[in-house]
Amino acid sequence: MTTPGGPPIIRDFEFIMLGTGTSAGVPVIACDCAVCTSTDPRDKRTRCSAAMRFTDPSGNPRMILIDTSPDLREQSLRHKFDRCDAILYTHNHVDHTFGLDDIRRFNAVMRAPIDLYADSHTMQHLHRVYQHIFKRDQNINDSFVATLLPHLLDPDRPLDLHGLRFTPLRFLHGRLPVLGYRIEALGRHKRIAAEQPKPLPLAYCTDVSAVPPQTWGLLCGLDTLVLDMLRFRSHPTHLTVDEAVRIAEQVGAGQTWFTHMTHDIRHAELNPELPEAMALAYDGLVLGDAAQGG
Ligand SMILES: [Zn+2]
Ligand SMILES: [Zn+2]
Ligand SMILES: [Zn+2]
Repeated sequence: MTTPGGPPIIRDFEFIMLGTGTSAGVPVIACDCAVCTSTDPRDKRTRCSAAMRFTDPSGNPRMILIDTSPDLREQSLRHKFDRCDAILYTHNHVDHTFGLDDIRRFNAVMRAPIDLYADSHTMQHLHRVYQHIFKRDQNINDSFVATLLPHLLDPDRPLDLHGLRFTPLRFLHGRLPVLGYRIEALGRHKRIAAEQPKPLPLAYCTDVSAVPPQTWGLLCGLDTLVLDMLRFRSHPTHLTVDEAVRIAEQVGAGQTWFTHMTHDIRHAELNPELPEAMALAYDGLVLGDAAQGG
C-alpha cells in the first residue's frame, strides 16, 4: 500500500488538444469532399499533438508539449504560448516531429535550453533529421537553431516533471512500437496526489493500432482517455471508428476523446452517434477545471 500524496502540488492544469488531424491534416490538399469544404471549425484538423499548461509547485507557469507537429507554429500562436518547458515524444513519424525547428523561438523568449524526452528509436530519428540542432558545431554558419537537452526515455519508468508524473504506455502502431503517456498530478513526497485535478488521470494514446497486454493495467481508473481514431475503413497502423470505440468501452474512462482523424470523419455526423462519455476531439479543445470541456 502506498501512502496517498495528499493534494496536488500543481494548480490550474489544462490539457490542450493542439491538433486532432491525421498526417495529411484536414482539409487535405486538393480535396473538395464534404469535410474538406466544411465550414464547421471542428472539421479543420491540424496535425496531431497536445500540450499541458499549468502552475508548478513553486508557482511558475509551465507548458509541456507532447510531440511537435508540422503545425506547431500555428498551434502556438493560437494558444498564445510564450514558453515551453519540455517536449515528450510518442514516436518518430514526421507528422509528430517536423515542428521541432519552431521550438527555437521559445529558447529565445525564455533564454534557456528545453528538455526533450524520447525513446531510443525516436531519439535516433531526431538526431538524424535534425543534425543542424544536435551537431551544431558542424553547421557552416552558426545560425539560430533550437537549444535542446535530449534525455533518453525508458519506456518502463515513469518520469516526474514539474509536479506531474508521466508513465509511458507501450502501444503498437502497425509494427512500430510507440509510446502513449498516463499523466497524473503528484502530491507530497513524489507520490501520486490523492485527488487529481480535472481531467487527470489522463492517458494520451495516439497512433495506436493495438494495445499490448501489459498496457491495459496502466489504463485503469482514468478520468480521461485520448485515443487514436483514424477513419471507418480498416488501416494497418491506426484504429478504425469501431475499434477505437471498442477499446474505449474496455478502458471505461470517465470521458474519452478521439483524435488523429482523416477527412472521412465529419464531426457533426459522427459525434452524436458515439456512445455516452465518448466524443470527437477538435483543434483547440481545452480540458480542465476552468475549461468548458465540450
Ligand atoms: Zn500520426
Ligand atoms: Zn477531403
Ligand atoms: Zn504515426
